[in-house]
Amino acid sequence: MSSVSAANLEDFDIDRVRADYPLLARTVHGGKPLVYLDNANTAQKPACVIEAVDHFYRERNANVARAVHVLSEEATNLYEGARSALARFINAGSAQELVLTSGTTMATNLVAYSYLLPRLRPGDSVLVTRMEHHANIVPWQLVGQRSGATLKAAPINARGELLVDEFIAMLTPEVKLAALTHVSNVLGTVNPIAQIAAACRKRGIPLLVDGSQAVPHIPVDVRALGCDFYAFTGHKMCGPTGTGALWARREILAGMPPFFGGGEMIREVRIEGSTFADPPARFEAGTPNIAGFVGLGVAVDYLQGIGMSRIAAREQELLAYATQQLKQVPGLRIIGEAAHKAAVISFLIEGAHAHDLATLLDLEGVAVRSGHHCAHPLMQFYGVPATCRASFAFYNTFAEVDALCIALNKARSLLA
Ligand code: PLP
Repeated sequence: MSSVSAANLEDFDIDRVRADYPLLARTVHGGKPLVYLDNANTAQKPACVIEAVDHFYRERNANVARAVHVLSEEATNLYEGARSALARFINAGSAQELVLTSGTTMATNLVAYSYLLPRLRPGDSVLVTRMEHHANIVPWQLVGQRSGATLKAAPINARGELLVDEFIAMLTPEVKLAALTHVSNVLGTVNPIAQIAAACRKRGIPLLVDGSQAVPHIPVDVRALGCDFYAFTGHKMCGPTGTGALWARREILAGMPPFFGGGEMIREVRIEGSTFADPPARFEAGTPNIAGFVGLGVAVDYLQGIGMSRIAAREQELLAYATQQLKQVPGLRIIGEAAHKAAVISFLIEGAHAHDLATLLDLEGVAVRSGHHCAHPLMQFYGVPATCRASFAFYNTFAEVDALCIALNKARSLLA
């Protein structure tokens, strides 16, 4: 990430940034300062986001696009404003290219059932990688079961890097969709999406990118990447839970049939049959998470205010320091040492189970995640049932990295 590490961090005032997050001031387990290193799971929310949601319910609450009264108009403007902010954030061609969803999971399922299933025939396949989250595996298996299509996964090496040549070699004519993560939630590996998208385009194979762990951490330009679908989730980027989006170019969305049916996605409903609204409304049946998206729109402004290049650069510094410090902990093995990595570190300590380790860390106030991280095939590749994962955000500190290492050394002496 040479361009982002060149970003100017001189005026990055960490104390001011941390003051934006009420929860970071919390203590746990009898007064221990909280060290929150579970950001890949979900990010903390700055006060401006919390206040936007609060303000919405206090002052603006109404349903969107359903009534002519002033509150409904205000709610609709806020909701559509969030769509526009998200579209600008990832450089979509227009706000109409963004389907607002409850998160990445709903976005991948939407592509699976609306775009892919009608195209699948027995013998077809979907290509993923070994490092995918279940949200980018199971939907393809479900539509495969209905159609006779299969799923295949491109290999990775022991460092947790995708074997890109093998991925490209597996783009054979029966592949009807390729789908991979931009950044691995377990390993931190950043995949070369533009290169893979170019290979897919050459072969006429559509590419879906799971951007859940990328959009909160690095600048993302979906049009420069050259993929066909880009899915991401709001709660990992300082927004409320139950928010997210699917980006696809207009002509792709225009060719997709509805997935959910109900109010607000129709043009006309007759008992004999219905006609449907243009995208993105066609895919947004029912009352959405209006307050959540209002909060997410504010989160986007907040992240842009700091600057995504500076966020990425700050997190690279934390990653470098944490990697160096964790390597000093006796018996600790880092899983995933890709050359191009985001600030996610999975690790194990010889003789200690990941859950026991995470429990002891928690007692010291250090919140990490332990488990399979919704990535069973990746755990199978490494031959482990679980890992501990410390995942950083720009609001983390070098002192928190030290606190993690101190807690790990203490836990080690108890367990190993
Ligand atoms: N993909 C990746 C890489 C993730 O890390 C996650 C969340 O952990 C998801 C997909 C699913 O996101 P959500 O649960 O918000 O739909």
